Parts: sequence; structure tokens; C-alpha cells
Amino acid sequence: MQELQDTINAMVSATIIKANQKLMNLGSSQQIPIQVPVIYFERESHTFAIAIREASGKMYIKFNLRNAQLNPHLIPEVISHEVSHLACFLVGHKGHDYFWSIFDRSIGGKGETHIKGVRHENLYKYSCGCQIHDVSKRKHNMIQNDSVVYICKRCKRPLVFVMTPEESKKLANQEKVAICA
Ligand SMILES: [Zn+2]
Ligand SMILES: [Zn+2]
Repeated sequence: MQELQDTINAMVSATIIKANQKLMNLGSSQQIPIQVPVIYFERESHTFAIAIREASGKMYIKFNLRNAQLNPHLIPEVISHEVSHLACFLVGHKGHDYFWSIFDRSIGGKGETHIKGVRHENLYKYSCGCQIHDVSKRKHNMIQNDSVVYICKRCKRPLVFVMTPEESKKLANQEKVAICA
């Protein structure tokens, strides 16, 4: 994991240097994002990464390490995507507008809103009564072997198994068909 984090950190730094050069060419040299920390989170989510700017102006990128592990070939595209958001924050653009798209392509990205072909971990669905939780295979096995009980942070009740990844995929496909019909 540490090796992957180091790789991502180095790639983010290299991409920021590239982005700074582009910004300088645009005449935005006073507002260079010199150092942007990368924060890692192993949450079981489908979000690969997210660029954040706090009200104070502090910026950072949050990275889902699990997704990075499962999709190493997509990391450069994701980094370019997020660094382009940082550049947009600086020049006052929001979201995936034309500026973001052109900027992303200018630093080697694809300029596409959604990263295509992301492989997701097969997640088990659990319920506590107040919400549905995504649970990894590793955690699922631990729960089923009675070696651990997971408690919902919100309602403090234990998680109860609902559905396998295969079942939830089937259900998602049925929903898609229903929407098309
Ligand atoms: Zn985006
Ligand atoms: Zn709950």
C-alpha cells in the first residue's frame, strides 16, 4: 500500500508541475497551487478520487486507495482529472465545464467527466435498519465467521447480511431495464 501511495504522490506532484506551467501560460502565475496534499481513504465507495477546496482556500485531493489498487491503469487519468479541478478552483471555474475539459486534455488527461472502465470491488450489501452498507468480501467473511460484529455509526445497531454482489448486480440490471422500458 505504501508503495502505491508513494507512486500516487509522485504522480500528483508531477501533474501539478505541468498544471502550474499551463496556468502560468494563461497568466495566472500568482495563484499557483504549489503544494497539494493527497489524502487517502479506504472507504468502500465507488468514488475514485475527489478534489476539494475548503472555504479557507485550502485544497486537497482525496483518493480511494482500494479503487487505485483495483485500477492501476486508470490512476494517471484520475490524477489529471482531479488536478484539473484544482486548476479550475484557482481560476474560478466550477465542475466539468469547457475550461476544465480543455485544461484536462492539455495536461494529458481525456477531458471526460466520467472515468470509463473502473473495476469495482464486489461488495456485499448489509443493513442496520437505518441504511444500506457496502461491505468488502474480507469484512463479509469476518462477519460470517462470527469473528467480528460491525455496528452502524449512525444508529449503533449491528449490520445484518442482505445481498451478495451477484444479487445486487442482477437487481441493478433489472432496474436499468425498467428505466429503459
Ligand atoms: Zn470531476
Ligand atoms: Zn444504521
